[in-house]
Amino acid sequence: MIARIYFDHSATTPLDPRVLEAMLPYLDGAFGNPSSLHREGRIARDAVQTARAQVADLIGADPKEIIFTASGTESDNLALIGAVHAIGTPGHIVTTSIEHPAILQTCRHLASTGTKITYLPVNREGIVSTSSLLRALQQNVTLVSIMAANNVVGTLQPIEELAHLTKLHGALFHTDAVQAGGKVPLDVNRLQIDLLSLSAHKLHGPKGIGALYVRKGTGLEPIIFGGGQEGGLRSATENVAAIVGFGAAAAIAKTELAEEVSRLRELRDHIVEQLERRCPDVYIFGDREQRLPGHLSIGFCEHESEVAKVLTQLDSQGIAISAGSACNANHSGEPSHVLLAMGYDDERARGLIRISLGRFNTRDEVEHFVETLVSSARKLKFSSECPQQLASA
Ligand code: PLP
Repeated sequence: MIARIYFDHSATTPLDPRVLEAMLPYLDGAFGNPSSLHREGRIARDAVQTARAQVADLIGADPKEIIFTASGTESDNLALIGAVHAIGTPGHIVTTSIEHPAILQTCRHLASTGTKITYLPVNREGIVSTSSLLRALQQNVTLVSIMAANNVVGTLQPIEELAHLTKLHGALFHTDAVQAGGKVPLDVNRLQIDLLSLSAHKLHGPKGIGALYVRKGTGLEPIIFGGGQEGGLRSATENVAAIVGFGAAAAIAKTELAEEVSRLRELRDHIVEQLERRCPDVYIFGDREQRLPGHLSIGFCEHESEVAKVLTQLDSQGIAISAGSACNANHSGEPSHVLLAMGYDDERARGLIRISLGRFNTRDEVEHFVETLVSSARKLKFSSECPQQLASA
């Protein structure tokens, strides 16, 4: 009998026990305020600085370029609003139609105060074309914000090319790397990134702690005002235990990255191979190669409206997977904006099942999941053949 199986790591990840261990002293005896000058304060300050170096190391940054925030959402808000305010004019942001709401809603807010926003389209695989960015860059652009990995379909964007083009046109380049951080290699200098958002809970760290990488010399105004912590960019007493956890999670992710990428890719590809062989009506969303190693998004042809039944059946049998993103769950029943942007119709855009693997998943769990999903699909009589164009979508 297998215990519960958690395959929803794109929503959040369980805390790594090593991270918990690192955090515990800071939830107990080491309670100091990092701004205090006494011994308790110095201990807390040192811990925050160590974590800053660990997070910086994950993305090839200098520790001075890391600002701790309370979430990936806050990092995205600070990057976009902070950059526009620093420029001092409403400006022009170029982004994509498949971003997380943390970007889309921030752009909406900025649009209401006069910022021009251009949304780049994506192809059927969820990839932004460099030519569409090049066209957008012909106008005066302040900032380009393109996510490194999509949270719904797991597609990876050609960040290096996109950032390179952006820099050639003199604009700032921000990437929301909340899903990519710790899962694929990221080097801010090689990629020419100016601003990059991370969130600890996506890489086996605690919830409620994020970071924004800000390249040295990049103009940025704060969006939270107060005591001037984090170089004046993010006032508030630091959440020391969470920051320490983020640092530990980043260090572990960096050390184990290469091994995890190939292990998760192998497990994910095994699921694909089994489902394609045994469920003729399964189709895959997103690019098959350019995607997060542990991520798989599928649909059941002609049964898109029955996704909820599959998830409920699996949940009752001890398996947690999701329909689209966790954020979409707040708008359940609505088609995914990501799939609509990729050219799927309303029905198919409601029918996505997201399977996202993580550090503690095993081959046995994957085998058990495949058996359960196949038998659930059979019980629900999912047996129609897929039209050719969908099967290869
Ligand atoms: N950006 C992306 C791509 C995400 O997937 C998420 C969370 O799902 C966020 C931003 C928001 O991060 P947080 O949950 O830390 O606010």
